[in-house]
Formats: sequence, C-alpha cells, structure tokens
Amino acid sequence: MPTPIGHTLMGGVLHQGTKTGKWNWKQFILISIVANLADLDYLPGIFVGSPNLYHHGPSHSILAAFGVGLVIALIVKFLRKGDFWSAFIIFSSAYFSHIVLDYFAMDTKLPYGVPLFWPFMSQYFISPIHIFSDIYKGSTNVTFLMSVFETHNLITMAIEMGILGPVWGFIFWIRRKLELAEINWQKHGRKKEN
Ligand SMILES: [Zn+2]
Repeated sequence: MPTPIGHTLMGGVLHQGTKTGKWNWKQFILISIVANLADLDYLPGIFVGSPNLYHHGPSHSILAAFGVGLVIALIVKFLRKGDFWSAFIIFSSAYFSHIVLDYFAMDTKLPYGVPLFWPFMSQYFISPIHIFSDIYKGSTNVTFLMSVFETHNLITMAIEMGILGPVWGFIFWIRRKLELAEINWQKHGRKKEN
C-alpha cells in the first residue's frame, strides 16, 4: 500500500486535472483528505492496540467511494449551494483513487489487496503488476508510529514521488497548453470580429 504522501500526490493530480480556475489550496487540501480517508480504518485497531487489525476492510471498496462522494455532494448542494454532480464525481474519484493506488501496490499481509466489490463479493483484488511499494508497519501502536522513520518506508515515499510527481507535472503542462491554446483562439476570434 502507498503512504499518505502517495495518496496526497494523487489528490494533487486530481485537483490539477479538474480545477476550473487558479490553483485553490482549500480544494486541494479537501481532495487530499478524501484521497487519504480510506486509511482511517487504522483507528479502530489503534484503539484496541493492534493498528493493522481492521485495515483493508470495507473502507477500501467501490461502495465506500460512492458513499463518501454522495455525502460530500449532498453537503455541497444543500449547505454550499454548489453543483451536486460535479462534487459527487470529483470526491468519489478522489476516494476511489486511494483504492486504485492500493490495488497497484505491493501487499505483504494477508488478505492481499482490496475488497473492491464489498459487500457483493468478499474476494480481495490486487494487481499482478506492482507499481508502488508496500509500507513496513509495526504491529503495536508504538512500533506502528515509529515505522514512519523506517528506511524501507522512506524509499516507498521516494518511489511515489518519482512516479506521481511527473504525472502531476504532465497534467499541469497539458492544461497550461490547453489554456494558452484557448487564449490564442479567443485572440483569433477577436481579430476576425474586428
Ligand atoms: Zn489504503
């Protein structure tokens, strides 16, 4: 499974690809939180002193992605008077991006992968090709917290930055090109009008 750095970078990629105006820190932070949300399933395990106990459960399913997207879209519609469908699509995608990254990551603990179609199928799914590395995690609360500084985990973070950093840069570049092309079109149109 990727680290929170990987999931946050994926949030950045999604914000870069879907933002309508300038870079918006608030939106980026919100998307990144949603992209990390599935791993809150560590919390019940931390309460009972065994952090990994409930990890990779129902929170790592398509149903959870749609559920979280639906709740946020309803909040956006009724409390912020925003557009339901765009919020639903963006936040379901942000949540689902977490599951996709975990699917393509190495997993060394049974059951391997994610329960993608929970509750309709209890089967776990994992990609035969691993793009991301796994995380070394201690099994007690103290070793779990200390594992942040493990060399293996720092290498995992470096791999994530090496893969998702260029993806982010590529999307930035494409959007910039499209924006410039749009400006040129507008200029062209204006010249014709004159
Ligand atoms: Zn996860």
